[in-house]
Amino acid sequence: MRQRSSKFVLQSIAVFSVLAFVPFLYFFNQLSLIELKTESNIEQQSRNKLEYSKVELQSSLDKMSASLRYLSHNNILLQAVTNPSEDNLEALQDFWVLIARTQGYYSQLRFIDIDGNEVVRINSGNNFIELVEAEHLQNKSDRDYFEYARNLGDREVGTFGIDLEQENGDLVYPLTPTYRVIYPISFDGERLGYFVANLDIVRIYNKLAYKNRAVNLPKIATQEGYYLMTPKGSDIMGHLVYENQEMNIAKQYPALWTSIQQSDSGTVKDQDGWLSYTKTQIDNVDKISNMILFLKTDFSEANAFTQDEKKVLYQQATFILIILFLLTFTFVTWNYNHEKNSLDSKIARAAMNGMSAMIITDRNNRIIQVNEEFTRVSGFELADVKGHKPSLFSSGKHSQEFYLKMWKQLENTGLWEGEVINKRRDGSLITQILRIQTVKHNSDTIQFYVASFVDISHRKELENRLRALSEKDSMTSLWNRRKFDSEMQAHSARAKRYKNHAVSVLALIDIDHFKRVNDRYGHDKGDAVIRQVAKSLEKQLRETDLVARIGGEEFALILPHTDLREAEMVLNRIRVAVNIESDLNITVSAGLTEICSHQDETYKRADIALYESKSLGRDKVSILSMTENDSIA
Ligand code: GH3
Ligand code: MG
Ligand code: MG
Repeated sequence: MRQRSSKFVLQSIAVFSVLAFVPFLYFFNQLSLIELKTESNIEQQSRNKLEYSKVELQSSLDKMSASLRYLSHNNILLQAVTNPSEDNLEALQDFWVLIARTQGYYSQLRFIDIDGNEVVRINSGNNFIELVEAEHLQNKSDRDYFEYARNLGDREVGTFGIDLEQENGDLVYPLTPTYRVIYPISFDGERLGYFVANLDIVRIYNKLAYKNRAVNLPKIATQEGYYLMTPKGSDIMGHLVYENQEMNIAKQYPALWTSIQQSDSGTVKDQDGWLSYTKTQIDNVDKISNMILFLKTDFSEANAFTQDEKKVLYQQATFILIILFLLTFTFVTWNYNHEKNSLDSKIARAAMNGMSAMIITDRNNRIIQVNEEFTRVSGFELADVKGHKPSLFSSGKHSQEFYLKMWKQLENTGLWEGEVINKRRDGSLITQILRIQTVKHNSDTIQFYVASFVDISHRKELENRLRALSEKDSMTSLWNRRKFDSEMQAHSARAKRYKNHAVSVLALIDIDHFKRVNDRYGHDKGDAVIRQVAKSLEKQLRETDLVARIGGEEFALILPHTDLREAEMVLNRIRVAVNIESDLNITVSAGLTEICSHQDETYKRADIALYESKSLGRDKVSILSMTENDSIA
């Protein structure tokens, strides 16, 4: 049992694996496609964001460039520097305020004289523009960028690079990156001071957000991998504040870094998301001209793109999985039953090809199958009998009652066995030992009848012959004494049962003076005479009559359903015929009586009647009826 169930499980696993192989490949492929699609979606979207930021940055820088050129070379500035009258300074201030208000690029606009003193200064922020009062103007001669400015040529533009905003020598918090552009201002070959513009990097940066949404802000790094700007701000200026290798994207995102070295834009997969990048090539402002803009999209965010598609795919997979389970189960069960059935049918075939003839009928007792032995024995092919009832074989030798009994027993016990005489195809009779069994479905309704039989015709014939031998007289071929006795017994029993019914008659016949025949013609001739008389008797008798040789030259007749009168006539006819047909003028004497219920009495009465015939001179027929006998007695 356990072996069977483990075989069942193993088979199921094997079948399922085979069935699931192709669907598995399909779904695996679909998932990969979705993955690819996700990647390309992200690639596309990130590219949009990055390109937007890049173009925006480019355009801001272009505008700034133009703006700065103009701010550093105009008459208002020159007037104020060469002639720093109150009016001229005010005009410059007004001009700068206007510029700062209309262009959001600058956090400071300053003019610093050659000694490092701030002469005019505008502070600008997100929501304010501040004109710095004269008493708050500072001296910047000690700052690095002033030293740097002093070393610039007259026509040079200085860019000090990104620095952190300081106030009176202290860093400003929150950390504010700044980018200074410095123009030396000279007149008639004499250096008068420096125009210094601080770019508001944070404000410029925030404008780079695609669709104005902070989440779309890319991180910006230098080509060395240090952060310039990030939405969070805390990464800013990693190279300045921390000099920290950990804050370098080459260290943080090695895969991204490798890709950046190889191409200008692209997307790489990280541990927890996708990283897209693009590089800028801006020639007008050096040092930070080559920047890296990159964006990270987390997997969770990425999954949102294809969530619905994946859901559908998982639903399909579940559906297919259920179908595969069902298919597997159906197939394995079918196979299991098939194996079992084929074993059953092998057994059935073996049984069908056995020694006995077989007929199988359906529940309506219509023949559906016969075996070769049946055909050999009966002469009927399957085609001859298919769909017929077995009553086709009926010989008429059995009564209706016989068949009724058979069916009743079959119904009650499911089995019938017995001897049956049927007909072969050629009409000859066949005696069978027949066994019929029912095959039930669900143990209550009969589904098939299986009949098997053995042909015992030969045996029966032999039996009949033996019986005949034991009941026939070998010299005359008439019945012998034994047969006569048993017939007498039967008739006596019948007489007892049907007392008032028609009579049967017993006649005893004895050849007259037979001794003389023997004496005169010899024993052989005597035998011949006996045979001749026997022949004459047989010839005269009706089919239903029985004639037996019961002694040397004595015969007995049983005449069923015959009254004494009629019997007397028959016997007289016989008497005459025997005489006529004999060449030695043979005569016989006979004694008649009715057969009563007592065999011995009947016999005795007939014997008395015979004796009477002898006494009366022979060649006579005498009757002793029961009533006469009673009166004598
Ligand atoms: P009855 O008219 O009184 O009958 O005279 P019967 O000579 O026939 O006398 P009974 O019937 O008593 O004698 C019968 C004889 O038949 C006796 C016997 O020798 C002879 N017999 C008996 N059986 C056979 C037989 O099988 N063959 C021959 N040839 N003779 C037989
Ligand atoms: Mg005799
Ligand atoms: Mg005699």
